[in-house]
Amino acid sequence: MAAVRSRMDDDGVDVLLVSVGADLPYLTGYEAMPLERLTMLVVPRGGAATLVVPRLEAPRVVEQPEVFDVRAWDEIEDPVDIVATLGGRPRRVAIGDQTWARFVLALQDRWPTVEMVAASTLTGPLRAQKDATEVAALRAAARAVDAVVADMATRPFAGRTEVDLSREFVERMLDAGHDEANFAIVASGPNGASPHHTPGRRVVEAGDVVVCDFGGRMAGYCSDITRTFVVGEAPDGFAEAFAVLEDAQRAAVEAVRPGATCASVDAAARRRIAQAGYGDAFIHRTGHGIGLEAHEEPYIVEGNVAVLRPGHAFSVEPGIYFPGRFGMRIEDIVVVTDSGVEALNTASHAVYEVA
Ligand code: ZN
Ligand code: ZN
Ligand code: ZN
Repeated sequence: MAAVRSRMDDDGVDVLLVSVGADLPYLTGYEAMPLERLTMLVVPRGGAATLVVPRLEAPRVVEQPEVFDVRAWDEIEDPVDIVATLGGRPRRVAIGDQTWARFVLALQDRWPTVEMVAASTLTGPLRAQKDATEVAALRAAARAVDAVVADMATRPFAGRTEVDLSREFVERMLDAGHDEANFAIVASGPNGASPHHTPGRRVVEAGDVVVCDFGGRMAGYCSDITRTFVVGEAPDGFAEAFAVLEDAQRAAVEAVRPGATCASVDAAARRRIAQAGYGDAFIHRTGHGIGLEAHEEPYIVEGNVAVLRPGHAFSVEPGIYFPGRFGMRIEDIVVVTDSGVEALNTASHAVYEVA
């Protein structure tokens, strides 16, 4: 909160308003349900912060009087009035990126001349650089999904549907200590050429390449890992491309250090894949930041000249996709250290041969 207030000073923001989304738990430890009733943290520059919360949600708030006051509102009150009163007469307001439009519009009605900016301009850079406690949480989540990979590698895939396998990934994540699963992509055979394939009724068969990309949340922080499985004998052309992919993923991780740009990490992976002749088959950016949200800053993409600093945590996940045939991807979460990089996932990158 102190850091965000200092950024408010720098940017001349008079009031910060934070509603649903990850900024609220980041600042207060409280996560608002994405409801039609308004929850909003009001942080006036230089004044006390107040969490405006529906009366029936107030019991879920862990009070921290030194950080924020709680103002529970009753069903017959107008919470937008309460927020507008607490906010005073601002000129410049930063508002949470995921705030429902109806509340933004209602506030604009109350404050017709106020300039509104996205709260992420204040919170994004802070959230992107993790402290030691946050890195420890990300590491624990990563280790948990590493164990799920090892477990799933001992199970037969053939004869099972993608949905069935996906459900098992979810169950194993929960068994491994996750509080919830965010997604479990199981993309078999030709479906593997679609990076965000929705698991369906296709039955996995011998000779399939199966891309498994899954993650969830543990103690608030996200995991996200991809490994490539092969059922029995791999198809023609798989081994050659997979060797290139492993090399590209490693090269990208080796490019991570304080002072490097996001773009240079993307380029390290892309160059290897392009040189091997698969450039057109790598159809997405190399990675995304991760923390309280599964996708957040920094984005590891061509053109992003943002400089990496210790504590930046993100995925390195190049992929190679052959439409109509199969796909492959290797994804680890890494964190920038004072002198280089730490890969938080430690599960082998090698292809997992399953029955
Ligand atoms: Zn993805
Ligand atoms: Zn993933
Ligand atoms: Zn990812």
